Amino acid sequence: MRFDILTLFPEMFSSPFQESILAKAIEKGLIEVRTINIRDFALDKHQVVDDAPYGGGQGMVMKVEPIARAIEQVKMENPSAWTVYLTPEGKPLNQEIIKELSSRSHLILLCGRYEGVDERVRQLFVDEEISIGDYVLTGGELAAMVLIDTVSRLVPGVLGSDKSAEEDSFFGSLLEYPQYTRPASFRNHEVPEVLLSGNHQAISLWRREESLRRTWLRRPELLNKASLSEEDKKILEEIIQNKS
Ligand code: SAM
Repeated sequence: MRFDILTLFPEMFSSPFQESILAKAIEKGLIEVRTINIRDFALDKHQVVDDAPYGGGQGMVMKVEPIARAIEQVKMENPSAWTVYLTPEGKPLNQEIIKELSSRSHLILLCGRYEGVDERVRQLFVDEEISIGDYVLTGGELAAMVLIDTVSRLVPGVLGSDKSAEEDSFFGSLLEYPQYTRPASFRNHEVPEVLLSGNHQAISLWRREESLRRTWLRRPELLNKASLSEEDKKILEEIIQNKS
């Protein structure tokens, strides 16, 4: 899978992809991350990429031409690349959208700065707009990093075992169950007995129950779209009755 990041600050991306899982994925050729400096596509010798907004008002707006030329260059190599603009006005990013994006082979990620981009960039070149939350960042770069990290985890082979993504929170719309590792006892706080039992069926049942409980307590709205078995529904009813 390939990511082309259009940004005014390519240096910001030098470290996040040099560590751990993503660095290995790049090394193995499972993902490719390229940064493109929008400034290199400016039309004038001063490489101006922003200008005052028509109609007046605060701040500066990113000009349409340099962004258009940068996107068109990538599209010349691959016309089917999918262009995403990171913006607080976009669809809120969630695991469903991440899954959809991971099925594409090439994403162009446009990072805004200042007051954002000229509206015509959105009208003419952007396929999808995505927000990473209801707050305003100084630029789209951190949002692009979040998107690349989350999408890459779903690319086959990136995680040690493809199973681990399936057990994470939000896969199937539930939060994950509590995790423990050694020691079994820490300052009088014990690991639940069942996890030490070696009984895989009981462990699996406990985890499902805890996952349902945690989702109900912390994010009950997720249960509306979760696919629940008859047994899940029974467990959930008990949890709700006991209010714990
Ligand atoms: N004036 C814009 C508005 O009110 O919607 C905010 C511009 S913000 C200071 C600059 C850039 O940061 C945006 O163009 C966008 O690329 C990025 N950005 C800010 N918040 C974001 C968010 N929650 N999700 C994704 N990108 C964001």
